[in-house]
Amino acid sequence: MNTEQLIDYIQNDSQFDGRIQSVRHVPGREAQFADFPPSLDPELVQGVQRLGISSLYSHQSRAIEAALDGENTVVVTPTASGKSLTYILPVLQKKRRNPLSRSLFLFPTKALSQDQMNSVQSLSDGLSAGMKIFTFDGDTPATVRTRVREAGDIVVTNPDMLHSGIMPHHTSWIKLFENLDFIVIDELHTYRGVFGSHLANVLRRLFRICAFYGSNPQVLCASATIGNPGELAEKLTGRPFTLVNESGSPSGDKYFVFYNPPLVQKELGVRASSLKEAAKLGASLLANGVRTIFFCRSRVRVELLSTYLKDRCPQYRDRIKSYRGGYLPNERRQIEKDLREGNLLAVVSTNALELGIDIGSLEASVSLGYPGSIASVLQQSGRAGRKQQTALSFFIATSDGTDQYLVQHPEYILDRNPETAQINQDNLVILADHIKCAAFELPFKVNESFGDFPATKEILDHLVDSKVLHINRDKYHWESDTYPASDVSLRSGPKENFVIIDVTDTGQEKVIGEVDHFSAPLLIHQHAIYIHQGQQYYVEDLLWDDRQARVRKINVDYYTDAHEKVEVSILDDNEEKSLENLDVRSGEVLLRRKAVLFKKIKLETHENTGWGEIHLPELEMHTQAGWILFDQCLLDDVAGQVVEGSVPSGHSGAMLAAIAHSFGIITPVYILCDRADIAFRSDVRSTVFEKPAVYFYDGFPGGMELSYVALDNLASIARGALEIIESCACEAGCPSCTGVVDTEIPVKLASSLLLRRFLQRMGENARVRAG
Ligand SMILES: [Zn+2]
Repeated sequence: MNTEQLIDYIQNDSQFDGRIQSVRHVPGREAQFADFPPSLDPELVQGVQRLGISSLYSHQSRAIEAALDGENTVVVTPTASGKSLTYILPVLQKKRRNPLSRSLFLFPTKALSQDQMNSVQSLSDGLSAGMKIFTFDGDTPATVRTRVREAGDIVVTNPDMLHSGIMPHHTSWIKLFENLDFIVIDELHTYRGVFGSHLANVLRRLFRICAFYGSNPQVLCASATIGNPGELAEKLTGRPFTLVNESGSPSGDKYFVFYNPPLVQKELGVRASSLKEAAKLGASLLANGVRTIFFCRSRVRVELLSTYLKDRCPQYRDRIKSYRGGYLPNERRQIEKDLREGNLLAVVSTNALELGIDIGSLEASVSLGYPGSIASVLQQSGRAGRKQQTALSFFIATSDGTDQYLVQHPEYILDRNPETAQINQDNLVILADHIKCAAFELPFKVNESFGDFPATKEILDHLVDSKVLHINRDKYHWESDTYPASDVSLRSGPKENFVIIDVTDTGQEKVIGEVDHFSAPLLIHQHAIYIHQGQQYYVEDLLWDDRQARVRKINVDYYTDAHEKVEVSILDDNEEKSLENLDVRSGEVLLRRKAVLFKKIKLETHENTGWGEIHLPELEMHTQAGWILFDQCLLDDVAGQVVEGSVPSGHSGAMLAAIAHSFGIITPVYILCDRADIAFRSDVRSTVFEKPAVYFYDGFPGGMELSYVALDNLASIARGALEIIESCACEAGCPSCTGVVDTEIPVKLASSLLLRRFLQRMGENARVRAG
């Protein structure tokens, strides 16, 4: 049966009754070809043609031409659109003209750089370019390292290795840095938040070293689709970019099916298990011979789903495989090969198979829950469908608020990807660490800027005071014995992380993870249930001074939710935003946070089943924040409209908490970040502004500009929050929309009315279907 018939069949099958929320058809595209750019060497053109590529897609041609003209380029096109050719050809051409030319390729992870090295190598071999291409990472044997440094035409690595394994030893890499013509950054969209802000500073250091050795490399980037790829590339590198985002690659027709498991608990908005639903759907697809890839959010869910699938389809047991981190490399290679060769019927994976790894294409993809970004949803769906075939992708929602929003608003995924990647390259916490690393690499001259960050003097002087640097003849020199890069992790916040130690097996204690200083009181306080890779752990002890939590595996039917008391004082008030008689503020703040108690919440039903106190020190954090200030009379007025008789006390708190909760659900759809990266809170009476407030702050010290971007997008966020609350299937508010609010007023009704009034005051038309 063809794809349309299959969808029909599923829609009419009683076991899927009422689950298919919508089916969207995305028409295929014809290929758009363009000539090889005239500036491309004829011999390279012939080489490409020998590989069976008789002409270029339009985006490839444009990007290659711009790169050959010396421009920095960022190419944003779908999976399998031949992006790597856009950076390899300019690199090869340069090499033909200057045999000393070198290039540095950055991929976000070690696994990906090893995989991509192979494909770059085979392309180069196919073109008989004779390039020496090496990966350089933690696994590179010492004996090979010298050869990479001396002879590597292309060094393929990841940001962590560049930061701690290459740049601090730049004197051994003189040939690379003297002759560096290109920096290639693939999977650009993954560099956001803390990791992206670190990379921006790693690149500032890299350009500084290049300048020292007299080179000035061009930057070629490739990215999955996000809202602001050009801006992200410019912020990461401090350079102007040419954006190429019109894909000329062909695609087959695609059907996107939005699947919502049925409600099992209406009051709380709880839906049937997405895993069981996926297994049922999967069994139906496999029975019809449809080769399918399933994406789950955690390793445990991967294992569970593949077990459920095998139970349902014992006849295909051997042709269903799971794939995730933690498997041995050769096991993974074998699965990838079996996928390419069509030997498997189904693979259940974490997002490990989302990025570039070559597994060919399957016929259908199933995404279980929102993977954290729309870019990821699209990449997952891109795994289904060979070029000219009709492909089928499913999105199965969980009970989670963001999932529920997306399953009811397919346009956010398919028509207008609104999410933008944010970094704060001038975050002082991150910047100071990299200025230290940079000073170790090369002394700073007095008045030297760091990339486009001019005010280095204050930081350098501070490092002199702390005896890390000393001044000698107008230069800041490294003083300390220690080697700074090894203490700076690109993937986490400032130092002093807490390590989490699993003590389940006596005598075999092992570190299973880390939690940053500021999240520790909420996530790993004593008696908390800490969830790691889907496994629950009970926190027996949090040893504050030793910065470690001792945890033990456990299986319980609840999770813990910690509450904190937050005091805010404003350090630097930004200009007030003029948002049509609405009081909106932003600024830098000092937060004093103290975790006070935790609730035990039942997993399926979200019932509150107990609580305990938390006794930990208060934490101070300097960060960025924003406020929405309400008039008390507006709140009273709204409450008066939804209750008969006298308005109960506590109505303001309930409405504001519901708004803060729904804003927290919708914001990550607009700004690429995790929910923990920006916190939304409410205050019945803000101590700073003496008014009822919903406020929000960046969860990372110094801020990632997320609160400011949220303020810039306030109308969209408020509209999204309203849609979440109004379209939620619950009756009176639930954890998927308003949060659990103990109150006598009908909070769902009250908060949606308040949001409508809020949007009217912003001069925005609340474009939402009535009721
Ligand atoms: Zn609800």
